[in-house]
Amino acid sequence: MRAIYPGSFDPITFGHLDIISRSAKIADELIVGVLKNNSKSPLFSLEERVKMIEEVSREFNNVKVVPFEGLLVDFAKSMQADVVVRGLRAITDFEYEIQMAQTNHKLAEQVETMFLTTSLEYSYLSSTIVKEVATFGGDISQFVPELVRQKVLEKMEERRRV
Ligand code: ADP
Repeated sequence: MRAIYPGSFDPITFGHLDIISRSAKIADELIVGVLKNNSKSPLFSLEERVKMIEEVSREFNNVKVVPFEGLLVDFAKSMQADVVVRGLRAITDFEYEIQMAQTNHKLAEQVETMFLTTSLEYSYLSSTIVKEVATFGGDISQFVPELVRQKVLEKMEERRRV
């Protein structure tokens, strides 16, 4: 089974990594699809996000990181993936996720969506929260790997200078 785990990953958090490690055990091959999102203005460029995910997911030998833009179902088809993996945090994720899964199923019947419920310890965690805490100088070491923490701090420093 080849699975795709799509997202913006701006930046990747321990919550994302938890989903990656758990779904890498279920799928034979896991492709982390990094969305070039034109509607959001990301903190990190697409290339930076891809590189960070590659570095922090190196221990999983069946995980590949691939950037994409456009429709998820088109990306899934081009990768010949059977399943899309999404993480479900709280009730708030549910409405949007079910809408997206059903839309994707309408667009491409062969693409199934699989949900993994978040591990309790990361249920509150999001990339947005990480960026907010970092903006105000808070400690984000519990939320992201060390390499990511350093990159976020560098970004914040850059932003302060401009
Ligand atoms: P998007 O840009 O689609 O919102 P994100 O990069 O925020 O994507 O998240 C990608 C996927 O990871 C989504 O399925 C999201 O629900 C899931 N996810 C994000 N944070 C966590 C977390 N703390 N625990 C589990 N899943 C998460």
